[in-house]
Amino acid sequence: MTRAAIGIGGSLGDRAGVVRAAIAALGELPQTRLLAASTLHETAPVGGVARNRFINACAVLETELPPRELLAALQKLETQFGREPAPRWADRTLDLDLLLYDDLVLNDPLCTVPHPELHRRAFVLAPLAEIAPDWLHPVLRRTVADLAREVEF
Ligand code: ADP
Ligand code: MG
Repeated sequence: MTRAAIGIGGSLGDRAGVVRAAIAALGELPQTRLLAASTLHETAPVGGVARNRFINACAVLETELPPRELLAALQKLETQFGREPAPRWADRTLDLDLLLYDDLVLNDPLCTVPHPELHRRAFVLAPLAEIAPDWLHPVLRRTVADLAREVEF
């Protein structure tokens, strides 16, 4: 049984409703249980493409799904929540990112773990630090709480 951290975000429609429903749906994935969910954070868009403010949150799951299967399940949920194909960083109904998977390091462009932007994104680190402050980033060898303290808001 492994632990996985998921980043959740949305900037279109009923953002808080979508994020809350997505957290519930994560707990319903096969061979998976919701261990913890953060509060909802409203954040400004990053990257210069999206125009709306985002609602972000994080969840920690206990799962038996291997990482690529878990990411495929996340992508299926994004589609179920009405996400349309769009460029990176763009406004979207629901974005689900696989942030951490135990202490696994996976250098696969289709499924990179830890998520390559995790340590740079305050909007991910702040909610994640609420529920998993002591989780050690397996490449940087720093805890989530440390990374959250240092990133610029
Ligand atoms: P972003 O969330 O950075 O705006 P998108 O969600 O639009 O980007 O696109 C994610 C792309 O990155 C997908 O093609 C997916 O396969 C790939 N990817 C690689 N690693 C991960 C990961 N850990 N979590 C989510 N997507 C990932
Ligand atoms: Mg994504």
